Amino acid sequence: MSRGAAGLAAGLPAQGPQASPGCALCERPGGILVWDSPWMRLIRADEALHPATWRLVWSRHVAEFSDLSRLERVACCDALALVEEQLREQLRPRKLNLAALGNLVPHLHWHLIARWEWDAHWPQAVWATQQREADAARLQALAQRLPDIDQRLRQALQQRFDPQITLE
Ligand SMILES: [Zn+2]
Repeated sequence: MSRGAAGLAAGLPAQGPQASPGCALCERPGGILVWDSPWMRLIRADEALHPATWRLVWSRHVAEFSDLSRLERVACCDALALVEEQLREQLRPRKLNLAALGNLVPHLHWHLIARWEWDAHWPQAVWATQQREADAARLQALAQRLPDIDQRLRQALQQRFDPQITLE
């Protein structure tokens, strides 16, 4: 644990979610819960064509990234980079797509999607027109690896954002 990372977590306000009625991400985790904290959570989405999809969901109901405080923005970006690093190391994708849209669910969340040339939408965004048939064998092989990767992601995020650790 580096002192800088510990200080970052210790400085974040421990505020619970301020739910917005009818918001899917206020009412439900939104996927397989990989890691949870007072500030944000990581879920793995159940996407049939793109199973290597995770979402970093801010706990508080805010629509835009700039609604976060400066410290929260740093923590959010740090978490995104940490997950991205882990996914690159573990999955070695052709590309890692990072996106925040929220047009349908205006509760701040970032998509982290591992991409390969063989996937159904490559080289387009996963929300664009499908480019080819799904490769069932590759999808199945990929899906089998994901629980282990979830565990590695959980450990890395717990270590980085442990709220119990304070600066010396
Ligand atoms: Zn919400």
